[in-house]
Amino acid sequence: MARKTRSIDKQRYRMLKEMLGERRREVHEKLRSLRETLPVEAGVVRDAEEQSVDDFVTEVDMALMQMKSETLSRIDQAISRLEDGTYGLCQECNQDIAAARLKALPFAALCRECQEDTESTVRAAREARAFARLQKELVNVTLRTGGRS
Ligand SMILES: [Zn+2]
Repeated sequence: MARKTRSIDKQRYRMLKEMLGERRREVHEKLRSLRETLPVEAGVVRDAEEQSVDDFVTEVDMALMQMKSETLSRIDQAISRLEDGTYGLCQECNQDIAAARLKALPFAALCRECQEDTESTVRAAREARAFARLQKELVNVTLRTGGRS
């Protein structure tokens, strides 16, 4: 199957590549500083309250890191699409992504219609994951409190 490609003029290509590279460095830097702030002394015994605050902070940082990593891979994908000439084309329906959308979201991989289609699926998956985690936590709490006598 021959995939539709699109020729972008050199200037635009360079500009986009530079911009994506810059965003990439920026996100990479943030990710690194986040990693550095994560508590490392996991073995240190603390009182429960302190620990739960720490756990919360770690969890938020982890979520942030996850988000940054996702952004990073989206940027990488945009750069490779730029290189293989499919940049600006929807990965789902192969139509041109609106210029205004690309301007606002330079690493958008989907047109608005397709994005809206997947968003409801993604949201459902996210909710399912959150629920699974909550269940796991509940089990852990039960095990922890049940193990004490
Ligand atoms: Zn589409």
